Amino acid sequence: MFRKERLMIPGPTPLSPAVCAAGTAPMRDERTADFARLLGRVLDNLRIVIGTENDVLCFTSSTTGAFESAVQNLFSPGDRVLVLNNGAFGERWVRLCRAFGIEVVDLTVLWGEQVPAAVVAAALADDPLISAVICVHCETSTGVVTDVRALGAAARDVLTVVDSASGLGACEMRADEWGIDVVVGGTQKALMAPPGVSFVSVSERAWRRHRTARLPRFYFDWAFARDSLAHQVPRTPWTPAIGVLGQLDVALAELMAEGLEPRLARHRVLGRMVRVGLRGLGLTLLTPDADEHAAVTAAWVPAEVDAEQVVDEVADRYGVQLTSGTGHLSRRILRIGHCGHIDGFDVLTAVAAIEAWLRSAGFVLSPGAATAAVMELFGDLPGVPPVEPTMSRTLMPAGE
Ligand SMILES: *Cc1c(COP(=O)(O)O)cnc(C)c1O
Repeated sequence: MFRKERLMIPGPTPLSPAVCAAGTAPMRDERTADFARLLGRVLDNLRIVIGTENDVLCFTSSTTGAFESAVQNLFSPGDRVLVLNNGAFGERWVRLCRAFGIEVVDLTVLWGEQVPAAVVAAALADDPLISAVICVHCETSTGVVTDVRALGAAARDVLTVVDSASGLGACEMRADEWGIDVVVGGTQKALMAPPGVSFVSVSERAWRRHRTARLPRFYFDWAFARDSLAHQVPRTPWTPAIGVLGQLDVALAELMAEGLEPRLARHRVLGRMVRVGLRGLGLTLLTPDADEHAAVTAAWVPAEVDAEQVVDEVADRYGVQLTSGTGHLSRRILRIGHCGHIDGFDVLTAVAAIEAWLRSAGFVLSPGAATAAVMELFGDLPGVPPVEPTMSRTLMPAGE
C-alpha cells in the first residue's frame, strides 16, 4: 500500500532535508580542533536562542537528564522549591525533585491554565524557606505557554529554573533580560534536531548555588562540563552524541539563516492557523486561543469520541501522525505539534485529515470546513505572499 507519512507531533519533530543528510555523516573524533569548533558554534547559537550570555553546558541524554542535572547541581536534601504544575511536565518535575529528597511546594492548577505570576509572588511571600521556583515554559501536554517574563519578575529573589524543552525555537525566551537563572532544553522539539542531546544555561547565581549544593552528582556534574569546555581543545567530559551534535549544528545554522524573530513569528502564525482550523471543525480548544501558545495546540474531541482511536485511525488512513493527551486527558484531547520543520501546508494537511476523520465518523461538516479558514491566514506567514491578489482576475477558458 502506498503511504506517505507526515509527523505533526510536538517532538520528535520532522527534520529538514539538510538535518537528515547530516545524520549520514561518517563518525569522527570528538577531541579535534574541528569538532571543538562545532561544539563552540552549537553552544553560541544556543545562547542566542536562550537569550543569555551565561554558560551553556550540554549532555548526552534526553531533556529529562538535563533537568535531573539541574536538581543535582542546585539543591541539597531538604531544600524547598516551588513547582508551577499545570500539566504532565510540571508533574514530572514534582516527582523528580521528590525522588532526590527535595521538599516540593506543588502549585497545581487545572490543565490548560497558567499559574498567574501574582500567585507565585504570594506563595513566595508566604514561605521564605522556598529558595527556587521551577516552571515549564511550554507545557507540551496542553500547549499552554507560561509568561516567563512575569515569572522572572515575581521570583526575583529566588533561583528560577525553566524547562523550555518545547519552548526554545518556537516561543520567545530572553533568559538574561527576564532574570531566569537556569534554562533547560533539548534537541527534538522546535530546534528541529533528533533526540539525544540536552543542555542547560547557568547564571552566576546558579553557579554560587552549585558550589554549596550537596546532592550526589557525577555524570551530570556541571563543574566537569564547564572544566572540559575550558580545556585547550574544548570538549565534553564524556563521549558526546557526536552525530546528533552534527545535526544540531546544521539545524541551528538553519535557524540563524531564517532569523530568530521570523522563526518565532512563523510558529505564532502556524499556531493561529491550527486554532482557526480546529475551530472551523467546531472543536473546542484546550490551549488558550492566543498567539503566544506557539508550539503545540490541544483540542477536546467530541464527548463520545476516543482521542486515541482518532490518532490511530488518522495515522493509519491518512498517514498524518497526531497525538492524543497524556495522563487523565489521554482519551479526551487531540494534540497537533506545529513546531520545527513545519509550514502552512503541513497545517492544512493536518486539519484536513481531522476533518476527513470526523466526516467518516458521521459528523456533518462541509468539505473544506477547516482548510478554508486556514487558507485565509497564509499571507500572515513570514516570507509568504498574501493569498488575496492585488488585482482581481477572472479565469477564462484557454484558447479564447
Ligand atoms: C519533551 C519535553 C521534555 C523532555 O522529555 P524527554 O523525553 O526527556 O526529552 C521536558 N519538558 C517538556 C515541556 C517537554 O515538552
